[in-house]
Amino acid sequence: MIDPADLSVTLVDGYVDEPAHFGVPPYISTYPRFTAGALVDAGVPEAGITYHTIDELRDERRKWADVADADLLLYLGGMTVPGSYVGGTPAEPEEVRELAWVADGVSVMGGPIRFGVGEENAGAQEMQRRDLDYDFLAMGDVEAAAHDLVESGLEGFEDRYRDVDELDRWAERGAFVVEQHPNHPEYLICELETSRGCAYRCSFCTEPMYGEPDFRPPESVVDEVDALSDRGVRHFRVGRQADILAYGGDGEAPNPDALRRLYGGIREVAPDLETLHLDNMNPITVVTWPEKSREGIRIIAEHNTPGDTAAFGLESADPAVQEANNLNVTADECFEAVRIVNEEAGWRPGDDPAEAPTHGDSEARRASNASGGTASDAANRLPKPLPGIKLLHGLNGERTETFEHNKQFLRRVYDAGLMVRRINIRQVMAFEGTEMSEAGADIAIDHKERFKRYKREIREEIDRPMLRRLAPVGTVLPDVHLEYHEGGRTFGRQLGTYPLLVGIPGERELGRTLDVAVVDHGYRSVTGVPYPLDPNDASMDELTAIPGIGSSTAGDIVVNRPYDTAAAVPSPEVDFTTFTGGYPTDTQPNAD
Ligand code: SF4
Repeated sequence: MIDPADLSVTLVDGYVDEPAHFGVPPYISTYPRFTAGALVDAGVPEAGITYHTIDELRDERRKWADVADADLLLYLGGMTVPGSYVGGTPAEPEEVRELAWVADGVSVMGGPIRFGVGEENAGAQEMQRRDLDYDFLAMGDVEAAAHDLVESGLEGFEDRYRDVDELDRWAERGAFVVEQHPNHPEYLICELETSRGCAYRCSFCTEPMYGEPDFRPPESVVDEVDALSDRGVRHFRVGRQADILAYGGDGEAPNPDALRRLYGGIREVAPDLETLHLDNMNPITVVTWPEKSREGIRIIAEHNTPGDTAAFGLESADPAVQEANNLNVTADECFEAVRIVNEEAGWRPGDDPAEAPTHGDSEARRASNASGGTASDAANRLPKPLPGIKLLHGLNGERTETFEHNKQFLRRVYDAGLMVRRINIRQVMAFEGTEMSEAGADIAIDHKERFKRYKREIREEIDRPMLRRLAPVGTVLPDVHLEYHEGGRTFGRQLGTYPLLVGIPGERELGRTLDVAVVDHGYRSVTGVPYPLDPNDASMDELTAIPGIGSSTAGDIVVNRPYDTAAAVPSPEVDFTTFTGGYPTDTQPNAD
């Protein structure tokens, strides 16, 4: 019998993307945290547990020694929805297999990879269960497998799910592992689990395989946040659930009291948190229980941070596709849910919530700009939670009209003056165990060309004007993390749920954060200049990025430096104070 106290365990995070769970950097999913906690609970000391992301292993070959030498290798990963990612690249099946080959000790893989693996991580594919040469594939909870395997002296385990007490303990005890994540502490966001499973049965979805929704008590989540916060985490997303509004209820109807205990508790134990976002909300809950939902949405908007997204899985606005795939919400119902969320949460810090949805041109903002207001007192931020719309293609019954139905739905939302924070359009992955496994990916493959065209049209016709409404010129995005250079510009994102990609003129040092004011809009990204912009220091590229400032005005601004006040800047077409924040407008010379 191997003494757990002597075991060395390596966790490799190949990243996860599931319908209701995300773990590609800067996110860390629950899997490595809960698994680390389960190992500690089984007697493995924290010092015996090493955690690496797949990107670390790609970048530093010497870290493969930790894979080779460990008594136990646990691979955690699996993509059950396709996506493209900036912060990390999920492990490809061949890399996962290589880990098993390199490992001298016992090897186990788990997480959503148990639902299946394709040829590569992409949409329009059929996924099959494969063990990729590991000793064990955990078909239940990988954290329970890790725990039981250690208790058995690495002999084996029965597939099972963890129970509520185990979850409480493992979540709290596993918090230490975040300190080993390469993004810790500044650029790391922890995905928080509030429930698994779903009351509905959409044809393509793997979430119902977790059973009926099973809610974690608020105290359990709050204790985990407390432990993570003690380990330096400042960014959280309540994202591991199919429907945040159903939290703590009977499985379908909202329970605002549970939401208040959850959100209030998180704020209490982590008063210094910088991001508190969520992910999924089911529009059918919003329209079926509108008053309770409005109350729940108000509670969320009161406690969360701006720029949040309540992702709505409409999937298709075509009634024929809805019918053929057990989709639970119609286009009309989803439209009504979008309206309700806009009315309750479509306001920005500094706005009067009663005026929601606000389009970023409020009195508060104008007054603040006029008085040289600082970033903290102006309604120049992104709104509180707004709906995101998820559309899925390649489903049973998809036809030419489906594409038109979807476009019409999005146009209707825009024309009604409402906002959505994000439109996510994907092609289906067909998993064994879901209804879509019969039809497979054939429809998605047949419609691939049409899909590409339609996606481009939506980006041009809907996304861009929507982005202008959501984040008008002058909107301030605090703490943009600078991630890469391209074409003489620096690109970065805030931490949070589906953050906007921000391009900033010039090549700035990467790995730092910068407050940015929006000056222009792409389809799914914005251009920004540093905020507050110092008129005595701004580059020509930054000045000309501001709408209304051409190269001749920018040249005048540079030549006539220095300026004691923002009002003295010669920019006849532009209210320069929009970008200068607290810089003096009409007072005496700046002390600097
Ligand atoms: S509502 Fe449908 S898509 Fe959403 S989690 Fe439930 S089964 Fe999956």
